[in-house]
Amino acid sequence: MSGSFIDMRSDTATRPSTAMRNAMAQAEVGDDMNGEDPTVNRLEARVAELLGKEAAVFACSGTQSNQMGVRVHCQPGDELLIDHTGHIANYEQGGPAALSGVTCRLLPGTNGILDVPVLEDRIQPDNQHYCITRLVCLENTTNVGGGRVYPQETMERVCDWAHDHKLKVHLDGARLFNAVMASGRTVREICAKIDTVSICFSKGLGCPMGSVLVGSQAEITKARRIRKLFGGALRQAGIVAAAAEYALEHNIDRLQDDHANARLFANRIREIEGIVVDADAVETNLVFFEVDPRLGSAAQLSARLIEKGVKINSTGKKRLRACTHLDVSRESALRAAEAIAEVVEEGFGSAIPGKSGPYSR
Ligand SMILES: *Cc1c(COP(=O)(O)O)cnc(C)c1O
Repeated sequence: MSGSFIDMRSDTATRPSTAMRNAMAQAEVGDDMNGEDPTVNRLEARVAELLGKEAAVFACSGTQSNQMGVRVHCQPGDELLIDHTGHIANYEQGGPAALSGVTCRLLPGTNGILDVPVLEDRIQPDNQHYCITRLVCLENTTNVGGGRVYPQETMERVCDWAHDHKLKVHLDGARLFNAVMASGRTVREICAKIDTVSICFSKGLGCPMGSVLVGSQAEITKARRIRKLFGGALRQAGIVAAAAEYALEHNIDRLQDDHANARLFANRIREIEGIVVDADAVETNLVFFEVDPRLGSAAQLSARLIEKGVKINSTGKKRLRACTHLDVSRESALRAAEAIAEVVEEGFGSAIPGKSGPYSR
């Protein structure tokens, strides 16, 4: 919660707990750019091992590790294939173009999920007119796709297809551990056929910052150089790596609670007249729902909810996204649903549209 608000705008709202801060305070540190921070080194080795890859490199943010991943696989003039809702293409300021000279080809997946029929025929022919298609970017769980988990067979099919066509696969795993908990599969199994994976510690895992890019030794050696270029080479970063280590120990299993609370919230709001939500589609901690425009706009609903102590962002004229995380208890999730019922009951169409533009993804 931020202040006394129930903050369901994003799982980035999570704050480091006292126990996490204590772990940070105790961290042994050194100059990470010289490879001398023992806590960062231990975290990188541990995450590489956990995902079943050769190596890993710590980064500031999920955006940074995604963009490092793009640059590892591509050079200026190349192209990557991605679902049209993908974070890498939509919410990283055009990073592939801005930082690496790479074009994103946006494809019409389903709930943010790509499958081979959508990818087929999208590889550019070997001809001077075209970009060189180099990379497929996947997202698991999907964000704007609805917090959905990639069916394992689909992910493997896409990887096999990509590799058969000499393409690499990068997985944006900002919420990978949500996929782990929702699917019951190990993270190693999920990532088995992927080339590089980025994971994020500042979302549901509750850290103040931090991400890791994982891949082969050669890819990660290259990524380290790119990290410096992108301004992300760090010094005594063990302070934040210690938070990430703490999160791996303590904050993964509890993601189940976030998923249960998201379902609870969705099931409650679907009973409200004028609110449309596919509660069965809620697989993890994200709940997208729509408001009947005759009642008012999503922004108006969002503004009224703030008066009730609940922060939920609109993501479109009719659409809102609510997110559960470690600072949203079961009671808070129920209270937030109740607040929506109250606002709908009271009417909100005449509310002055509040500042409920995009917050954090
Ligand atoms: C949050 C998020 C990221 C990383 O964003 P940062 O703002 O850099 O933390 C990357 N991909 C997805 C799908 C995300 O939701």
